[in-house]
Amino acid sequence: MIVRQSFFFGWILVLAAIHAPAQALFPIQKATEELVRLRELAQIGAISRNRLEQAEDKLADARDEDSLRRLLYGSIGVEQLSEAQASELIASAQRRVDRVAKRYAGQVGLVEQGVLPRSQMEEFERQLADRRLTLQLAESRARIFEDLLSMAKAEEIFEAGHPEDDSPKPLIESFAGSGVFKEAHFKYVEAAYEKQFNKLFPVSARGQSTLHTMLGFDHSGRVDVGVNPDDEEGQWLRSQLQTLRIPYIALRAMIPGKSTAPHIHIGLPSNRLKSADTASGGGLN
Ligand SMILES: [Zn+2]
Repeated sequence: MIVRQSFFFGWILVLAAIHAPAQALFPIQKATEELVRLRELAQIGAISRNRLEQAEDKLADARDEDSLRRLLYGSIGVEQLSEAQASELIASAQRRVDRVAKRYAGQVGLVEQGVLPRSQMEEFERQLADRRLTLQLAESRARIFEDLLSMAKAEEIFEAGHPEDDSPKPLIESFAGSGVFKEAHFKYVEAAYEKQFNKLFPVSARGQSTLHTMLGFDHSGRVDVGVNPDDEEGQWLRSQLQTLRIPYIALRAMIPGKSTAPHIHIGLPSNRLKSADTASGGGLN
């Protein structure tokens, strides 16, 4: 899953460089001023209702573009999003598709009647394709967010009490080891993994994340690795951690009715955050 993540992050960065609107607030301001001006004209009957609606759409479009600039192309990490922001991300991208699709549908008849030139539609088609691609990116990012959220929630279930069962592969398996997990351990395991599998160590949460704070967990000094405990990578990682006596929790997370996010949590189980704790303190011990 993390290979997929890095792939998407890579694309998001590339596309950010191409698409990121340089001055996002300016279009909102311009569209707001235009709308105010047109509302005055509409009041004295100087412009049509349709013209006013277009200006309203333009402002809404600029606001959605601003949301995408912040949540899709901005520097905010996917693990720093909130659930509301992840929803806003998709909704903004979807509305930007819908607006162009609606205008396209409204004009296609006029082109067929020969009232408008065909070239006019090409611009709509280009915009529509562009916005659909952005929507796909937004959906990918929201899916990654959902995966991370599922991982954090799976740990919440662990914290609520070990759901012991008799199956050969329990849902959750914990190893206490020496009870110590330090930065040096992390560096060693990360390097060994990358050497072994010739790919990046798929860390999905390192230390405290917004998601863990939101769920009320102290995840500082802990690391989540997005490998399935039973895959080759997961089995290798568990055996390394056992050899090094590093504590871990393997979460198979086949929770009925929930999206599954199997992973290995390295370090002691997360504690409940005390109310005085903040989101700071991200690193390892
Ligand atoms: Zn964890």
